[in-house]
Order: sequence, then structure tokens, then C-alpha cells
Amino acid sequence: MPPEFQTSPPAPIRAQYSPGEIPRLSAQAEQAANTLLNVIVALPVQDRTVDNTLLAFDRIMTDYSDTTQQLILMGYVYPDPEVAAEGMAVEASSQIFINGVNTRRDLYDAIKGQEPRTPGEARFYEVTIRKFEHNGLHLSDDRLATVRAMRATLSSLESQFSSNLNNDNTLLEFTDEELDGVPPSSMAAFTRTAQGTCLITTKYPDYLAVMMNADISGSRKRMYAAYNNRQAEVNTALLEQAIELRRQVAKELGYSTWADFQLDGRMAKNTGAVMAFLTSLKEPLKEKTQAELAELLLIKKERDPDATAVDPWDVAWLLERQKKEQYAYNEEEVREYFPVDRVQKGLFGICGTLFDIGFDEVKDVPVWSPEVRLFRVRNKSDNATVGYLYLDLYPRDGKYGHFCASPVTNGRQKNGTYNPPVLAIIGNFHAPDGDKPALLTMEEIETLFHETGHAMHVLLTTVPYGTQSGFNVEWDFVETPSQTLEEWAWDPQVLESISGHYTDTFRKIPVELRDRVIASRNIGNGYYYSRQLANAMVDMQFHTTAGPVNVTDADYRTYEEIMGIRPLAGTHPMASFGHLMGGYDAGYYGYLWSKVYALNIVDAFKRTGMTSRDLGMKFRQEILARGNMEDGSVLLKKFLGKEPGVEALYERLGIKIPQASAGTW
Ligand SMILES: [Zn+2]
Repeated sequence: MPPEFQTSPPAPIRAQYSPGEIPRLSAQAEQAANTLLNVIVALPVQDRTVDNTLLAFDRIMTDYSDTTQQLILMGYVYPDPEVAAEGMAVEASSQIFINGVNTRRDLYDAIKGQEPRTPGEARFYEVTIRKFEHNGLHLSDDRLATVRAMRATLSSLESQFSSNLNNDNTLLEFTDEELDGVPPSSMAAFTRTAQGTCLITTKYPDYLAVMMNADISGSRKRMYAAYNNRQAEVNTALLEQAIELRRQVAKELGYSTWADFQLDGRMAKNTGAVMAFLTSLKEPLKEKTQAELAELLLIKKERDPDATAVDPWDVAWLLERQKKEQYAYNEEEVREYFPVDRVQKGLFGICGTLFDIGFDEVKDVPVWSPEVRLFRVRNKSDNATVGYLYLDLYPRDGKYGHFCASPVTNGRQKNGTYNPPVLAIIGNFHAPDGDKPALLTMEEIETLFHETGHAMHVLLTTVPYGTQSGFNVEWDFVETPSQTLEEWAWDPQVLESISGHYTDTFRKIPVELRDRVIASRNIGNGYYYSRQLANAMVDMQFHTTAGPVNVTDADYRTYEEIMGIRPLAGTHPMASFGHLMGGYDAGYYGYLWSKVYALNIVDAFKRTGMTSRDLGMKFRQEILARGNMEDGSVLLKKFLGKEPGVEALYERLGIKIPQASAGTW
């Protein structure tokens, strides 16, 4: 056929927009959803069926999110700033719209009382009703009004807190001598005053450049103090007000604490379960951390023989010294073995083996930027399309600056067929540099595996309801598949298999170098996990107290108890603990919680083989495919054939398992 008669395959999503279109499409989606929701509400009681009420609700909300998620994605990636801004605005407006829907009493009344016919419908019904009731729809109108008003105040406290942090412009002035040890590339990026001194912000890269490299302890201490005093005055008070308000909201909604309210409907289910989990980690982690700090103290004494303790502003710097002394390797040299194409092919190959899928690149469809690539993911068994994956891997002006896996359309049953899901991995990996291809660091490789774990959760779903498919799962289960897959990046055979020097892809990473890279992963692990534990502990304390709380005092006590390091007096680290005002309140434990589950899954693979198709297919069918159709704990138990236990984490950290705390928590 001559080329002009060839028709391109249809793109799975629309990728090109002109200014003004996105707001119009978003408004149309809202209007369409509202019209159809009103149809549900208007049905006479005797005409209501599960299909025209409960399942209609899923169809309407999924249609809505399938449209708006595409528009929001453009906000993250679209090269034209005007269109991108319009996309970002949809993120805010859709949140408001969805909150509005979830607090509609007429809808709740219409759906409540429906009688599901199958276990799947029953699960969907239960999750949906719980969402409405979480918003207070089981309360009388006047009490609901009180709760709404309190939650509106709470939202505004939270957004003030984060906007204060975003707009923080703390600046520190240092002389070159005070910055001894900081690498030239960082020095070159600092602003200079007329006197020739450096002005340094407390933004993450600047903060780390000083904390990891400045040899003078006083310089690090000054940076540490400034960093941990960002917005101290105003944000400490905002957090304390929010905690108090949350306590009152929880009471109104019939829970004894905010933590109990937040945990209802999550895997953990209640405060007791989270506290038992966190408490079980305390002693084993403490022992590990103390041993690490003892080693760090020896390194500190090499320079300062009178030192008696490791201070908070020493840790990052000492860990860097330790890494250089014990595992001397050059990150730049390691990267040369990991050109992005090689890694991505290797990663697709591993997913292909584990989950019996293939990835076919789809060319000649419109994308939002020329470097974006699209893959059709298909079953090897019957060649059926299971989903579409976009890769948008490198930084661009105006593009979202972090890494994420962003679902664009949800897998679901629609008009008699299965509608394949679409997902985009958005990254900011090292871009190609001159004639060198993009070369990935170990951290970047781990991140790519992590995001691909999210992608598999979304793309391999078989759930019939869009609002329950993919990673629309319990909040403390979402990070399990991603944290599972990231462990593959550190498996010696896998790492070797995805390597190939950029000048000659047949040249694999030398075994000796590979092993040093893998071994260095364990540096400071006890410290890192103890820090996670301390954060999770204060979060739970704040959200289970019976009265007002002094967040700074509570944090100092927990920090010293868990870390075994004296906090720096006069600092207010809670004033910049954004998670607690950004959706992770009574939720920070989730990082450790899903890590433990992930490591249990990985353990099963370690016993059977990291590339076992049988186990991979079991993981696919029993966890990845199932979305929110069952509790995460039920899915896990079925897959593992036993209750998950915390030992997997101890093993990963090289902690000898204390007999008393073996078993589940
Ligand atoms: Zn993640």
C-alpha cells in the first residue's frame, strides 16, 4: 500500500492540545458526570437496580477520571506552558469535583441499601459506602455541616503550611574556606556576593552539598540548624492547630482518635496494629543503628580525637567518608555500564519473563514531545493487548521535576470488552550528554524499576470496575508492588544482565565492581530505617493524643530514644515535616509497612528464583491483577501461603532475628 493510504494506529490517548481546549474538555467532563449522577438520584426507588445505580456510579466516575487524568498529565509534561498550566488547573478542579461527589447525600442515599449480587459487587459496594461515610454522610445534616466547616479549616491550615515551605527563602552566607570539601560543581552553582562569599539556600541539593561534603563541622551545624528551622515560628503553630482540629473531627465522626479515623479502610485497620508493628521494629533497629554510629564515631575520631558522640549534622558527612573508604568506586564509571536503552530492554525482558508479556514499540502516533516513546504491552500467550505504556524519561523545561507513574486511563469492563489501561512513567533521568547516550546511576536504575512496579500494577489489572482497578487500592498497600520490583535492581544476576558498556553493549559490568556497588547499598541502612521509624512514631503520637501536643518536645524525645543521637536544641524539625500536612498524617508508617510486605514477596522469589515465570505469574494473577477486589492482607496471604512477617526486613538489613520478636507483629 502506498504510504499516503496507510492509516496510523489510533493513539491510546490524545496528546496534542491547543490553548483553551483543556478547560473546555474538563468542564464538559464535569457536566457529563453531573448530568448522569443526577439521573441516578432521580430514579424512582422501585426502578433502582445494582446496574443502574451502583455500577452506573463506577462507569460515570471512571469516564470522568479517564478524561481528566489525560488532561492532568498534560499539566505535568506539556511543552507549551499555557497548555501545561491549564492541565495543572484541572488537578485542583477535579479534586474539588470529586470531593463534592463524595459528600453528596442524595447519591449516598441512592446507593446505600443496594443489594450486590456477586462478591465483586459486594466489595465495590462496601468500599464505596465506606468512602461516603468517611466523609460524614452517616451524620445528621447539622453535624455534617460542622464537620465540613472543620475540614475546610483543616485544608487551609495544610495549604498554608506547604505554601510557607515552598516560599521559604532562607539564605546562608559562607566563605570559600568554610565550604572546604564541597565539590567544584556545587560551588559553581552557588550565588556569589559582591564580597565574594557564597549565598546558599536550604533547598535540597544545596543542603545536601553542604551536609555531605563540608569538612568543617561548624558549617554543617549552621546549615543543619537553618534547614531544621525553616518556617519554625509559623509552621509549628499551624501543625499543632491541625493536630488539635483533626482530633475534634475524628470525635465528630465517631472515632476516638484521628489515627483510628485515617486507618479505617486501610490494611492496618487500627492504631493498635500500627503501633505493634512499629514497636516490634524498635529494639532490633536500635541495635543496628548503634553499631553503625559506633563505626561512624571511629571515622569522626580520625579527624577529631576528642569526639565522644556523633551529632545530627555529622551523619551524612560521615556516611560519605565511609562509602569512599570502604567501597571506593567511581559512580561515573559505573554509569557507563548502564545506558538507558540497555537497562530498559533488560527491564522489559525481566517483566516479560516474570509476567509472560511482551512490549512492542508503537511508532507514528502523536506524542506530546518527540522523545516520548509508546509501548503496547501484550500477553505472549494470546497476543492480546493488556495495556499501553508511555515513557517520558528526561527533564525538559517546565516539566514535572520528580519521578512518577501516572495512570491515564483505568482498566475496566466496558461495553462487553476489557478496556486496556494506559499509564505514563514520567522521569527526570540523566539525559543524553553530547555523543554519550543517557547513562543511569544505581539510584536511577532502582527508581526505574520502582516506577515499573507501579506500571505493572496498573497495566496487568483485570478488575471490572475502573474505580477499583490498578493501584486504586488501600493507601498502605500502594507502594508494595513498586517496592517489590525495585529489589530486582540489586540482584547480582539481574544487574549484570541489564548492563552493557555504552561503547560496547556486550561488555558487562565486571563482577568485582558489581559486587562492590551492591555491597555499598547497605551503608547507613540502620540509620535510614531508624529515621523512618522515628518519623512514623511521632506521626502516630501526634494523632493519638488525648489533648493538645507540643510537637517539638515530642519529636526531640522520640528522636533521641530511637536514634540514640542528641537533637540540636533550638531547632524545630516538625515545622518542615511536610508529610504530616500533605496527606501522610497517621500514614507515614506506610513506607515501612509496604516495604516489609514487598520484602516478603521478594523472599519468595529468592527461594524460587528471581526470574521464575511460575512465581511471576502467581504474583501477576494473585496480586497485580486484583486491584482493590480484596484486602491487601488477604491477597498477600494467598500469595505467600502464610502471614507476612517482619523478618524479611531484618534479613535485608543483616539484623540477627531476636527469637522473641520473630513471627508476625
Ligand atoms: Zn512509588
